[in-house]
Amino acid sequence: MTTKPKSPIWHPFTQHALQEKITKIVRGDGAYLHTADGRRIIDAISSWWVVTHGHCHPHIVSAIQEQAGKLNQIIFAGYTHEPAEELAAQLLKLVPDGLEHVFFSDSGSASEEVALKMAVGYWHNIGKPRRCIVVMQHSYHGDTIGAMSVGARGVFNAPYAPLLFDVTSIPFPVSGREQATLDALESACQNDMPAAFIVEPLILGAGGMLMYPAWVLREMKRICEASDVFFIADEVMTGWGRTGSLFACEQADVIPDIACYSKGLTGGALPLAVTLCRADIFDAHYSTDRTRTFFHSSSYTANPVACAAAKANLDLWHDPETHQRVASVGTMQEEALEVLRADPRFENVRRTGTIAALDLKASDEGYLAELGPKLQASFKQRNLLLRPLGNTIYVMPPYCVTAADLDQIYGSITDAAAALT
Ligand code: PMP
Repeated sequence: MTTKPKSPIWHPFTQHALQEKITKIVRGDGAYLHTADGRRIIDAISSWWVVTHGHCHPHIVSAIQEQAGKLNQIIFAGYTHEPAEELAAQLLKLVPDGLEHVFFSDSGSASEEVALKMAVGYWHNIGKPRRCIVVMQHSYHGDTIGAMSVGARGVFNAPYAPLLFDVTSIPFPVSGREQATLDALESACQNDMPAAFIVEPLILGAGGMLMYPAWVLREMKRICEASDVFFIADEVMTGWGRTGSLFACEQADVIPDIACYSKGLTGGALPLAVTLCRADIFDAHYSTDRTRTFFHSSSYTANPVACAAAKANLDLWHDPETHQRVASVGTMQEEALEVLRADPRFENVRRTGTIAALDLKASDEGYLAELGPKLQASFKQRNLLLRPLGNTIYVMPPYCVTAADLDQIYGSITDAAAALT
């Protein structure tokens, strides 16, 4: 048995008995993090995919400072405030036309719970109850009980399996076998009377950075529409430029019935999420009958400081430079990947927008299982924040990352691969 950590803090997704050391960070600026012992780390995954414009972006920081001195929290039932009102109005101008209402929450998982409750609530309130949810294999939607229920099952949620509800799962659209996915969705829609289909558009994140083409997304939406099944787009990871466009659904001309955004919503500065929905979903809850109320809340719903940060993020998206940076991160990533495509140690070298991923080959299954933690430790030694998913290494940097940073990131990936395989 290893010695127990001195700190009382229980970190997420961390096996304290195996993790040799937790790194203390004292400051962040742009693509960099500074450690308590004086090292500079490149944040190659935007601190779990949230810090889109880089750490401590001055425009977001000043919006936070200003709002914090005015109104920093207010109950959101029966009360409202300017940052939330303005944010909602501006958000609705950015998203596809069919989305008309905005519900606030404070994490990606919560936004998924809200989406599921909205869908099931709609069917209940119109007197045609439906409870089945269709999901895609390998998906990840969060770690609360509902979000886990619609996500992939594995060691990370095995103890709670008895608490998770049943869903209908369709296969991931593997290249060349997309029709099987579409057929499975069609058959689920026709036979199971689902309330909704929930999906990560274009790329499944935590499930292994698995990418699929826009036409499949478009077809999935068409199938749901034909069967009157709500299409929930989980854009928690893919939103805010990650896939090259502001939202992934744009690339498929898909207007979701319900959409969830978080992570980059505040540029990664503060926790906030939104679930947007069609007017008829709101209308099904709009009634003088109190039992039709949408019964969901959290104490910090639409926190004014977080809303101010999100408004500042939206300002940055009105600046053409942000869009140029997104395009240039994509180009730089592609150039780096081109080199690795010729390296026999890697396979499935892939990219969607600013997200690059590749799998490190290992002939031995046992060794493969050990690769993730080994890689992570070796990146840490190289002053790099990367958190592989098993043998899948991915790079999802802030948009302020430079060519020199990416050189260092990919140089370290090659070195780590050479040392470990
Ligand atoms: N959906 C997706 C697609 C995600 O990637 C994540 C987080 N990685 C979540 C939902 C959950 O978000 P949060 O961690 O903020 O609860």
